[in-house]
Amino acid sequence: MLQTDLDLLILGGGCAGLSLAIRLAEASGRCRRVTVIEERADYISDRSWCFWRLGPHRFEPLVARSWSRVAVRSASQAVTADCARTPYQLLQAGAFYDYARHVIAGSDAVRLETGVSVTGIPVAVAGGWRVETSTGVLTAAQVIDTRPPGLPRSGNSTLWQSFFGQELVCEQPVFDATCVELMDFTDAVPGAVAFTYVLPLAPDRALIETTLFDPHPRGPSDLAELQRRAVERLCGDVPTRVVRTEAGILPMGMARDPGSRDPPGRGYLRAGLMSGAARPATGYAFQRIQHWADVCTEALRCGQMPRGHKPDPLLTRMMDRLFLDVLRNQPERGAELFLRLFGGTDMRRIVRFLSDRGTLLDRAAIVASLPPGLFLRQLLRPPQRDLAGA
Ligand SMILES: Cc1cc2nc3c(=O)[nH]c(=O)nc-3n(C[C@H](O)[C@H](O)[C@H](O)COP(=O)(O)OP(=O)(O)OC[C@H]3O[C@@H](n4cnc5c(N)ncnc54)[C@H](O)[C@@H]3O)c2cc1C
Repeated sequence: MLQTDLDLLILGGGCAGLSLAIRLAEASGRCRRVTVIEERADYISDRSWCFWRLGPHRFEPLVARSWSRVAVRSASQAVTADCARTPYQLLQAGAFYDYARHVIAGSDAVRLETGVSVTGIPVAVAGGWRVETSTGVLTAAQVIDTRPPGLPRSGNSTLWQSFFGQELVCEQPVFDATCVELMDFTDAVPGAVAFTYVLPLAPDRALIETTLFDPHPRGPSDLAELQRRAVERLCGDVPTRVVRTEAGILPMGMARDPGSRDPPGRGYLRAGLMSGAARPATGYAFQRIQHWADVCTEALRCGQMPRGHKPDPLLTRMMDRLFLDVLRNQPERGAELFLRLFGGTDMRRIVRFLSDRGTLLDRAAIVASLPPGLFLRQLLRPPQRDLAGA
């Protein structure tokens, strides 16, 4: 049997790869030789991770902002919800990457190699895997692959959440820094659920993000004009300066985990955003990746096989699926549905549901806030044929 260079090779040092590496760097147990391969030569603060704080967590010292109020609004209606018990928190990716690099630098077990890309398809060999990289060949007993398994494509997900955001500094105070505009549906877009997301970082500084839930993935150039209009509406005549941009396309209800189409084999696991980490109803993945990293690290430390993302409970999957199908077929009802949800349900119930901690009562309260006829009609519709593998 081949004596491998490594116990574990992690492909991709983004959120999932580094989250796992941080934990193994703290205590590696029986997984003593770990390398993370990341194609970026340098990390920049390329994304803003937000999540609801459900209790103390390891990234507390890195949290840049925490809000106790969120708003959902349309041109004619607004709902503001108090979330003081489960504040909405912001972690800038730059702070996370710095922290991960710092922890890994202090470890004898884990190495991070930046500016190195995986160049070939990993091949199973006796005792593990052989992976070609831009700086040579590595062999490892186990591989965790966090690279996106493919590009976002129409038909691979019920909806894609595409967004383009700009962090702006204004010459005068413009924003209410105490309240996140979670979904502002003022600028409607025919055929899509479209809204502006505003994270107010200070009265004169905010991340303003144009977001679309749409069957087709959209790039920043598709969203630029909507973004320009949103900034004009929110900032009026006040001069603004763009200090940072970010963009993303998140899956909302992948037809099938692309990684599961060709399970590479024993000792090779796919993880991350497009391999089961994203919650279909929101596209959010940060907290789910942290939970996965805890569970997977525990297994690796004990010398067991790595664990993948756990599928959601059946009821959650059914509720997410039905909600996304309704949004896909009747996007013009999106604003009304989210206003009803946030206006008619205790915020603690919504947060628990969205953070994978929902009880039966939470689910019942959410269902009760929404119009039953619309969802019943959706249930009676024939299944859609344009979702690959659905
Ligand atoms: C702008 C943005 C904002 C987001 N905001 C939120 C949020 O507020 N809340 C939330 O819960 N989720 C959010 N998400 C979703 C999710 O949390 C992130 O996408 C998260 O980064 C996913 O982690 P990942 O490890 O799967 O992917 P990534 O973090 O993208 O990591 C994949 C890594 O693989 C590397 N890679 C790719 N190909 C190769 C190769 N051939 N060789 C070596 N390395 C390679 C990439 O460079 C990258 O570093 C956001 C996503 C984006 C893009």
